[in-house]
Amino acid sequence: MDVFDAAESLDRQAIEALQLERLRETLGRVAAVPLYAERLAAANLSAASLRSLADFRRLPFTTKDDLRAAYPSRMLARPMSEMVRVHTSSGTTGTAIAIFHTRNDIAVWADLMARCMHMVGLRSSDVFQNASGYGLFTGGLGIHAGAERLGCCTIPAGAGNTHRQIQLIRDFGVTGLHIIPSYALYLAEALEHEGIDPDALGLRIALIGAEPHSEEVRRRIEAGLGVKAYNSYGLSEMNGPGVAFECVEQAGMHVWEDAFLFEVIDPESGEPVADGEIGELVMTTLMREGMPILRYRTRDLTRILPGPCACGRTHRRIDRITGRADDMLILKGVNIYPMQIEKVLMTFAEIGKNYQIVLEREGVVERIRVRAAVGAEVLKGSAGALEALRRKITAGLHDEILVTPTVELVAETEVPRAEGKARRVVDLRGQ
Ligand code: ADP
Ligand code: ZN
Repeated sequence: MDVFDAAESLDRQAIEALQLERLRETLGRVAAVPLYAERLAAANLSAASLRSLADFRRLPFTTKDDLRAAYPSRMLARPMSEMVRVHTSSGTTGTAIAIFHTRNDIAVWADLMARCMHMVGLRSSDVFQNASGYGLFTGGLGIHAGAERLGCCTIPAGAGNTHRQIQLIRDFGVTGLHIIPSYALYLAEALEHEGIDPDALGLRIALIGAEPHSEEVRRRIEAGLGVKAYNSYGLSEMNGPGVAFECVEQAGMHVWEDAFLFEVIDPESGEPVADGEIGELVMTTLMREGMPILRYRTRDLTRILPGPCACGRTHRRIDRITGRADDMLILKGVNIYPMQIEKVLMTFAEIGKNYQIVLEREGVVERIRVRAAVGAEVLKGSAGALEALRRKITAGLHDEILVTPTVELVAETEVPRAEGKARRVVDLRGQ
């Protein structure tokens, strides 16, 4: 059996016993963190008195605000001199938070990442290109370390410069690629423009993640790049990538339960929801030394997929992330997730990779405008055909989100494109 396989097939009882043991170690470590020492005392809980996972749930949640208040380094469980790396969250929402790692933390992270890659079929013989931003974004160094740990020849391409990305893929015979979904769609389109047959390119596997995307987008990426694409979930607070990852079944993401304890809760009540029901993901580090985090509210919405996975791994699976709790748009009293809109848009072959959702207010009336980029050949078509397409998209969106949006079909250049995570929603209602 492969070195990465042993922990992946532990039975439920063994996983829970391991979690309890690692939770005790973690509670021992966080006694050095003032915030957690106080909370443990208030809950009358300690490493020695922890008897069950249920005991652990007496502790309050850690929130993003707690981490912000601790910025830059007030939550360390070990002396600063033992830290070898710091990452900050990419700041998609609000002010930054900082996460510190010891040498061992970095090694554990690389092992987890390598386990993900191995799971989807990457091997040391693969040539791996990391086309995500480096720097403070964890998708750079995090994925990079995993690929090297696995033994792949690893190309730190970074994001952007699409022509060069293609050239690197060709020159070095790249077979594995990490790329965020919005950029993957762009790369696919660039291949088409350059007249390159994706199947002749030699890519086999793409790891896509870091931002929400629909099944339709995955299929487009697979066809456009000639790959199998696997969903990769993580967040800086829990290292970054390598937290939950799809296996070859492409049916939900296994959460590495030997390294993370997870809960899915009702965001209002804080109580656990039943398996299969959507709630907010809450996570605890089980192996981190430098900056352990207990019961962290990720704001990410998902559900546990009940039942065993056909691949035989025992670590439970979560569904793709529907969005962040903060992403939810409320329009005319209706809750809308941007992902619902994407899902509908991507069912239309005429619509390209890019779109934008604009929320506006006119007097007391709130409106939602969806600007979808379409190819030049579509825009050149007859006015009647364009109008018919616009109507069909409007009707499709109405069925999904229950309000009628204004749909605009625009040229690719009219929708801004980010090299990092895409910013799809523009809210002008407060202005
Ligand atoms: P930021 O919160 O500033 O974007 P991170 O880089 O830590 O900083 O991003 C983590 C967040 O990215 C997650 O909490 C989640 O909202 C999103 N994310 C990461 N991977 C995925 C994925 N596979 N699907 C959907 N969303 C994801
Ligand atoms: Zn599986």
